Amino acid sequence: MWVEVILPVPVHSTFTYVWDAAHPPVPGVRVHVPFGRQRCLMGVVRSILHEAPAMQAKPILRAIDTHPRIQTQQLALWDWMAHYYNCALGEVMQAALPAFFKVDEGEEGPFTISDGSLAHWRWVGRRSDEGQIASVFGQLGRAVKQSEALLQYFQSALTWPERSDDFYPWIPQTALQANGVDTAHLRALQEKGILEKSMRWESEEHLPDVDAVLAELSPAQQAALEEVQDAWAEGKPVLLRGITGSGKTEIYVHLAAQAMALGQHTLMLVPEIALTAQLYRRLEKAVGPGRLAVYHSQVSDSQRRDIWEALVRPDSAPRLILAARSGLFLPLERLGCLIVDEEHETSYKQQDPAPRYQGRDVAVWLARHLDAGLLLGSATPSLESYQHAKTGKYQYVRLDERFGTSVPPQVEMLSLVKYQALQHMEGPFTRPAVEAIAQSLDQGKQALVFQNRRGYSPFLTCMACGWTEPCTDCDVAVTYHKESKSLRCHYCGQSRTPSAQCPACQKSAWQWRGLGTERVQETVEELFPQARVLRIDSDSTRKKAAMTQFVDWLEKGEVDIVVGTQMVGKGLDIQGLNVAVILQADNALQLPDFRAHERAFQLFTQVAGRTGRRDSPGRVYIQTATPEHPVLLAVQAGDYEAMADQLLQDRQAHHYPPFVRMMRLEIRHRREYVASQAAHYLAGQLNQTLGGGVLGPDAPSVARVKNVYLQHLWLKLPVDRGLPTTKKRIRQSVDQLAFHPDFKSVKVVVDIDPA
Ligand SMILES: [Zn+2]
Ligand SMILES: [Zn+2]
Repeated sequence: MWVEVILPVPVHSTFTYVWDAAHPPVPGVRVHVPFGRQRCLMGVVRSILHEAPAMQAKPILRAIDTHPRIQTQQLALWDWMAHYYNCALGEVMQAALPAFFKVDEGEEGPFTISDGSLAHWRWVGRRSDEGQIASVFGQLGRAVKQSEALLQYFQSALTWPERSDDFYPWIPQTALQANGVDTAHLRALQEKGILEKSMRWESEEHLPDVDAVLAELSPAQQAALEEVQDAWAEGKPVLLRGITGSGKTEIYVHLAAQAMALGQHTLMLVPEIALTAQLYRRLEKAVGPGRLAVYHSQVSDSQRRDIWEALVRPDSAPRLILAARSGLFLPLERLGCLIVDEEHETSYKQQDPAPRYQGRDVAVWLARHLDAGLLLGSATPSLESYQHAKTGKYQYVRLDERFGTSVPPQVEMLSLVKYQALQHMEGPFTRPAVEAIAQSLDQGKQALVFQNRRGYSPFLTCMACGWTEPCTDCDVAVTYHKESKSLRCHYCGQSRTPSAQCPACQKSAWQWRGLGTERVQETVEELFPQARVLRIDSDSTRKKAAMTQFVDWLEKGEVDIVVGTQMVGKGLDIQGLNVAVILQADNALQLPDFRAHERAFQLFTQVAGRTGRRDSPGRVYIQTATPEHPVLLAVQAGDYEAMADQLLQDRQAHHYPPFVRMMRLEIRHRREYVASQAAHYLAGQLNQTLGGGVLGPDAPSVARVKNVYLQHLWLKLPVDRGLPTTKKRIRQSVDQLAFHPDFKSVKVVVDIDPA
């Protein structure tokens, strides 16, 4: 018999081997196989082949498992992703399998992902024999340690949740060990016929009842919940547009509880793992500690393993899994409910390496495949999802009412042109913005200053000759970080100490240009010396648990002013925040990206939504050179739909997503000339095989990263078809490039729906 094996190699095919293990093969088991010059690679059996392959196949080295470790639905997901994202099945497998799955050659078994069972102990007697307990102790005589172990068993049994049967409960060995019992004494009691042992799944019957702690919904929330339930009953995905502060989370919790009542799991994806600390506390209160699991890259391997094992157990209590996009790869056969929170966030998109997938879109596919309810939630949905809602593919549910007494924020434009002319500026702040912050502090409230650039200053420029310090390996200026006194490249991460003199003219006339959060923090501390200032960006939250600490300070009211990047827009709940100042709004509006306006609208609306969430209306000040910009006016009006409709019209007129599907081919080479030549050659090949339609090549705005030159080709494909032939042709053209004598070392990266 032969098996088709998925191997962790970036090749668009699977591999056939002879199955000569003693037991019959099953899809989903892990194997070691010889591969090329590598003696041993670990792979996963995808299917069983009953006919001999055309080419002679080698035998497998060994079967690692006797039972499948990968669920059928997981294999189906890998298949779909490899096909849709035009990448190798092996690349998907590598992204999907956590480290604990990987078994090295020569490693000793057993390699089973444990089935989660644990040793349990119980007294052999029946409840009706309770009178004999005293004589059992008598039987032990002077075996003091064994008597103590038995006593501990009975003590644990007394407090253990009551069982209906006639026996004393099974107590997990771990619980007895925690009370100082040595397993040697348990074994001795077993030999004397007093205790018996069994491998059992730890009872989950004592997990708290989920219904008991659900918060009561407002009439608006209740109506929205019912709309979601009705749509799910028809098998329709739901887009929930709930303005910030409308209490979407409460609806999520009710849906999760509903799935739990049916014995099904809920997967809730969140865009920013650093912010899960805050959400975790709220959810734990609602569903109970044993029911909530967190799964992302910063969770330890053993914790991830625990979650994986809990999910494969046939009888496990249903869980709510709070996860980053990697949670989509979990064994989710019993999934009832899939929620994507802040579905518009770009962090759902995996950039590098392959598979370059959009987590939201994978969630849509997975929910349909598993027949689970799908809910996409956001205050500012992506245009892709909104378009599906407009065409009726998704049910559109709106939650326009803020929960409780809070009211929407008032947004005011502050013209930089005007205040600069009047000389009413304090550093980067207009005078009204400074006054608003001061007033907020007087009232004992908090203020937020938003600047979407980290570091101190994005340019270090010589005032004598105009030289701006670049990265040595990338075509981009380096950012000065004052805290670490270093120049850092935000593209390759390279860091160096700034030199005293300009390398171009040898003078010392450096000036920091532009505005990063470190510099904003410095100005804020000068303007408000009494205030407690906290900076939240990816630098300040890099240390483990830093964000948990920050959330703690915020919740205790120990912060007066928050200076932050887009991180604060991703669902951070700051109590008592009533003023937000957006410093350089024009930066976000001018990005060279067809999504720039959509993103800017989402970002500013999310920032505005942080304010006035409790008892007083929030005030938001947008500092801009273009106060009449339609995007800013839409933020001011708080009118998502008007903005989205307008942007969709533009996209349709100019053939951009969601009306076409974009595919980007990134050509990479260490020599600029080769990258450019290869891009032109590939464009020609593609135009020939596809009959035209290839855009480019063009160089991206940062055309060299880590000393590799980049060129882009773009394809706009129809959205309503799977396009297997087109994708195959593109793949063939890309693969053939490697056989061209001039382009052997050129790398081509295919990105479907790039973001
Ligand atoms: Zn100079
Ligand atoms: Zn660099």
